[in-house]
Amino acid sequence: MTTREIEKRTDALLNAVKLKRTGPRRVVLAALLRAAEPQSAEQIAVKLGTSAPNKVTVYRTLETFVNADVVHKAFLQKRTWYYEPADKCTDTQCHPHFTCTHCGDTHCLTEMSIPLAESPYKGFVVHRQQVRLEGLCPDCA
Ligand SMILES: [Zn+2]
Ligand SMILES: [Zn+2]
Ligand SMILES: [Zn+2]
Repeated sequence: MTTREIEKRTDALLNAVKLKRTGPRRVVLAALLRAAEPQSAEQIAVKLGTSAPNKVTVYRTLETFVNADVVHKAFLQKRTWYYEPADKCTDTQCHPHFTCTHCGDTHCLTEMSIPLAESPYKGFVVHRQQVRLEGLCPDCA
């Protein structure tokens, strides 16, 4: 996507969830849309460099996006959350994430869909299925 397309997409997503298009929201969401892989608050702050809102603002902005369901928490790695735009997930499930046990890299498997789990438990209401897979990536296999 070009910068122009990313800006358009950013504004469209913010409008769709009725969030005000503030400066920090626009740059943080654009950074997520531009990234090929899920990003941590720290990675976003580093990438944005001097134009970045401070790290606390980046973190709060990401949480606002998660609450508005425009961004998902993709996975937790070494006590750090990694975030990604929600547009590569369906309402009922996130695409699976694959972590290589050898090199530690995590990949989005956006083309893989896994049947929804059928729960025998009463009283638990499932909103979304998130699956994490482990094994060896092509470089390490
Ligand atoms: Zn998701
Ligand atoms: Zn690997
Ligand atoms: Zn992903």
